[in-house]
Amino acid sequence: MSTVPFLKFNDGHSIPQFGLGVWQTPAAETAQVVQEAFKLGYRHIDGAAIYRNEEGVGAAIKASGLKRDALFVTTKLWNSDQGHDGALRALDASLSKLQLDYVDLYLIHWPTPGNNRQVDTWKALVEARQAGKVKSIGVSNYRIEDLERIADATGVVPAANQVELHPWLQQRELRDFHARHGIVTEAWSPLAQGGELLGDASLQAIANKHGKSAAQVVLRWHVQVGNVVFPKSVHAARLAENIAIFDFALDADDLAAIARLDRGQRVGPDPSTANF
Ligand code: NAD
Repeated sequence: MSTVPFLKFNDGHSIPQFGLGVWQTPAAETAQVVQEAFKLGYRHIDGAAIYRNEEGVGAAIKASGLKRDALFVTTKLWNSDQGHDGALRALDASLSKLQLDYVDLYLIHWPTPGNNRQVDTWKALVEARQAGKVKSIGVSNYRIEDLERIADATGVVPAANQVELHPWLQQRELRDFHARHGIVTEAWSPLAQGGELLGDASLQAIANKHGKSAAQVVLRWHVQVGNVVFPKSVHAARLAENIAIFDFALDADDLAAIARLDRGQRVGPDPSTANF
């Protein structure tokens, strides 16, 4: 079975570098997809309240018989629940749906720069960590200025920042900032949501060289440059394909070719203007 490496957080806890994302996994299928993933060796689930499938994740965990400390579960605070009290209420609601006493990582889903609630929300997450309801706290879609704002106001640096990141959007400046401040980089839409990126000729050439798929090459690239990834799929064959990336390594030429694919192109919303 594949051995998934762990990355260390700035709070002493660790995160498996590979997992399963469940955005757009239909609620009715989620328990079955997550159970399938557990059978294949997945131990890290990236969810969110807004994905509306936390019950399915919780049902799969319960049915798995796996020990709680063998699993890593992330969920996220939705934008409309930001603010001190709203955040604490939303976390309790997520824990109840997940049937868990704690989550391993709780993230503020978006900075929503229009509403000025970042610091109050972050203080609530610090309290939730002290209360034992979350092991680690972090953010998502935060820009450097957002990270500086909450760290300066509270003295608490997020354990992780989950941002859009794939070969077309390599986020070098933000990743350098994370490295300097001990923040783990989590890559969302690591495959740029499948499709066109995976047809790129240079990725296909690297894939042929290693006897792997373009998706496996991209996921392996993430792991080697130090990102956490959790590609989404609902298909057993793809779930198996995506985790089968720990038995080969990209060489310096491969990494250089993938570095050249960066073109600053997003497949999702820009956090500077996302105020939904
Ligand atoms: P992704 O890059 O993981 O792409 C998933 C899509 O790629 C699948 O729907 C499928 O069409 C295709 N795919 C998957 N495996 C494949 C394979 N082996 N070969 C070919 N195609 C394949 O995109 P995503 O689902 O947007 O992102 C992954 C996870 O990131 C989400 O499930 C969620 O957990 C997280 N996420 C977070 C945010 C955020 O704002 N924090 C935003 C988007 C996604």
